Amino acid sequence: MHVRVLVLGGTGEARALAARLVDSGSDVVSSLAGRVSLPVLPRGDVRIGGFGGAAGLADYLRAEGIERVVDATHPFAATITGHAVAACAQSQVPLLVLRRPGWTATANDRWTRVASVVAAAELVRATAPGAVFLTTGRRDLAAFAADDQHHYLVRTVDPPAGDVPPRMTLLLDRGPYELDREAALMREHAVARLVTKDSGGTLTAAKLVAARELGVPVVVVERPPLPDVETVSTVEDALRSLAGQDSPG
Ligand code: NAP
Repeated sequence: MHVRVLVLGGTGEARALAARLVDSGSDVVSSLAGRVSLPVLPRGDVRIGGFGGAAGLADYLRAEGIERVVDATHPFAATITGHAVAACAQSQVPLLVLRRPGWTATANDRWTRVASVVAAAELVRATAPGAVFLTTGRRDLAAFAADDQHHYLVRTVDPPAGDVPPRMTLLLDRGPYELDREAALMREHAVARLVTKDSGGTLTAAKLVAARELGVPVVVVERPPLPDVETVSTVEDALRSLAGQDSPG
């Protein structure tokens, strides 16, 4: 396949897809938002920074002669996904969405699913005091900033910039995480509740297994809805679709 592909990235799947496209001799450019200070760079060409909305992305597609776009961004990066839908429709460039599956509770899990980070914060505020392990990302901390009843163990890749919970222990770290260390961390901080987005994937799933083993309840923030475009859940399926071997659906 020798079409020019733009991969909207910032995820492990996007890096894996870019690497496979490079290996197959495709003309691929990956795009990163530029949010984290030291991003893990995909193989192949990389551009970093926003496009300037859907119109800016459409301009970019035209200027760079992009023939296919794969939105392989994080399941919660809904704004760039919306922009990709609009820009590709306007530019008549086919768009494929690559989204890893969400996580599924097992019989021993104690999960409560909520529709938003704000709803997660409201739920936590209504619970008895106890340490809360918060892994929703540094830009979602403001929702918990009014809660002075709970102690928060907050884990982010880069330091928070805005409002944070007043009683907070901050851990700067990035996955992948291992079960033993996750369980030890949760024991050490006497974690009584875990709050996570339904990011899916294996790199950050160990905290859910640790919570299960320790009997810790989990608040799971549900994903924003998928757009109405062809969507696949694996890199292999994305490659098949790009090669035109698979029917959309
Ligand atoms: P977002 O809210 O959907 O997007 C906000 C703005 O950031 C977009 O309008 C766009 O700016 C720019 N942007 C986002 N992704 C981009 C990309 N891949 N290339 C170029 N510009 C991009 O996105 P977000 O939730 O801030 O996520 C930003 C990046 O971090 C994404 O690449 C995502 O895959 C990754 N990420 C997000 C999360 C999460 O929890 N949200 C977790 C892990 C990784 P313009 O309008 O100027 O084009």
